[in-house]
Amino acid sequence: MKLIFLGPPGAGKGTQAEKICKDYDIVQLSTGDILRTNRKHGTELGKKAQSYMDAGELVPDQIIIDMIKEELKKPELNKGYILDGFPRTVPQAEELDKLMKEMGQNLDAVLILEVQNEELVRRLTSRRICRTCGKSYHLIYNPPKVEGVCNVDGGELYQRDDDKEEPIRNRLQVYENQTMPLIEYYISKNMAHKIDGIGKIKEIYSKIQEVLEKI
Ligand code: AMP
Repeated sequence: MKLIFLGPPGAGKGTQAEKICKDYDIVQLSTGDILRTNRKHGTELGKKAQSYMDAGELVPDQIIIDMIKEELKKPELNKGYILDGFPRTVPQAEELDKLMKEMGQNLDAVLILEVQNEELVRRLTSRRICRTCGKSYHLIYNPPKVEGVCNVDGGELYQRDDDKEEPIRNRLQVYENQTMPLIEYYISKNMAHKIDGIGKIKEIYSKIQEVLEKI
């Protein structure tokens, strides 16, 4: 199964993608996570992406496309994947179409998680991430058992620099201007499935399962 997960920052794509991967035995490919890992290790790619990420801007298309080309070649993706945070612009989507065609792959569905801006700001400002495994928590809705510590591996929880109010507003604007046109792009290809992203994590997941059972 090959899926794309679209939705604004904070819609819950990462949380839901983790569940989908477990149940359907596919791999999550998050461009944001890959970029953050590169920054942590001080790679050239990480250095190039840094200023864009901190400002809540998109990293230029060509950098992302070169990165995804390498990622899609990895053998563990043969069993299927869900793209989380990619594509984010129409040129990225067109390039993905081309790449998949070259690799003889077919996209099964595009899931679009919908949440209103005010709720997104509330979620993102309270989001904390594990420095070691990347698992995300919400201070109120999904807090760790011990404050500041990851339930899974005991890693330190931190707040992403771009999860502060100003970069958040910018990221939401960028989503509206540059990523929303993708929804039309995939509707026209009959691939888009909209899902209401408000509610309990479990309830939202059930709606996603309903969609996945039909494809
Ligand atoms: P995310 O974790 O998906 O919210 O991504 C964090 C940041 O990484 C974004 O605000 C962008 O700066 C950058 N980024 C991640 N994925 C992409 C992409 N597909 N295109 C451009 N920039 C991206």
